[in-house]
Amino acid sequence: MADKLSTQLFGTFFLFFVLQLSVIKSVELESVQNLEQAQKGDTMNGVNQIKKYLKTYGYYHHDTKHTLDDQFDDPLESALKTYQEYLGIDVTGRIDSDTIQAMLTPRCGVPDGLVSNYSFPGAPYKWRTRNLAWSIRNSVTGFTEATLSPIFAEAWKSWADVSPFSFREVKNNVRHEIDIGFFPNNHGDGNPFGRAFAHAYYPTDGRVHFNENWNWTSNPTKEKSKVDVQSIAVHEFGHALGLDHSSEKAAVMYAFFNPGIMKRDLTDDDKKGIKALYPS
Ligand SMILES: [Zn+2]
Ligand SMILES: [Zn+2]
Repeated sequence: MADKLSTQLFGTFFLFFVLQLSVIKSVELESVQNLEQAQKGDTMNGVNQIKKYLKTYGYYHHDTKHTLDDQFDDPLESALKTYQEYLGIDVTGRIDSDTIQAMLTPRCGVPDGLVSNYSFPGAPYKWRTRNLAWSIRNSVTGFTEATLSPIFAEAWKSWADVSPFSFREVKNNVRHEIDIGFFPNNHGDGNPFGRAFAHAYYPTDGRVHFNENWNWTSNPTKEKSKVDVQSIAVHEFGHALGLDHSSEKAAVMYAFFNPGIMKRDLTDDDKKGIKALYPS
C-alpha cells in the first residue's frame, strides 16, 4: 500500500515537474519570437532582459530618459549594433536570432572593452611589481586545493613565458597579490555571476572569482559537459594582469567559451597584448 501510494505521489510530482518545464519552455520561446519582431519605439515584454544583459557586459549605456524597461530605445539599438560588431555577426540593430543565440552562449563575467584585437581597460591598471604571489582560497566539487594548485601553476606559466612576470604560490594566510577562489552566484562583491563562468578584477585588485555552480574539470576531452578549469584560469589571470577582452575568436582573451573545450594556449593576439602592456 505504502509503495503504491509513493509510486502515485512520485507520478504526480513527476507529471507536475514535466508540466512546469513545458510551461517555462513555451513562455521562453514565445517571448524570444516576439523580441525578434521588436522594432525601435516598441514596448515589449522581455526587452528589459536584453537591456540588462547588454548593460552588464558594457554595451548598454542609458541616460536619465531611458531606463532598463521594456522599451526598445535608441541606446538599445546602438548597444545591439556594437555587440553584433564585436561578435562578427550581421549588424542589424535588432534582437535577431543570431544575437539571441550569442546571448545564450556562456561567457566570462567581465564586461567587454570594445576595442578590436587585444585591449586594456585603460591606465593605470598595471602591476608595478613583476613578482606576484598567488593563493588558493578554497576548492570546488571534484577538486582539492592540492589538485587545483598544479593547474593554476600551469595557467600562470603561460603568462610567465611571454612576460617579465614571475609567479609563486603561497598559503592563504601569507601576504599575496592574487587571491583565487570559488563562489556562489551572489558572493558579496556586487557582481553576481549569472551564467558567467568566472570574473577577475584588474590590477592591482587581484581577486579571481570562479562560479562554483558550473561543473569543473581538468579533462574536458573526456568530460564534455564540464568546464576546463585551466582554460578559464588562463583567461581570468589575463584580466588579473590587466588585459581586457579580445575580439579575436581564437584568442584566450575572447569573452565566450563553452564546456567541453580546451583553450589553454596563448595566441599571438594574447601575447601581443601582454607584451604591449608590460614591455619589460
Ligand atoms: Zn573575461
Ligand atoms: Zn566576484
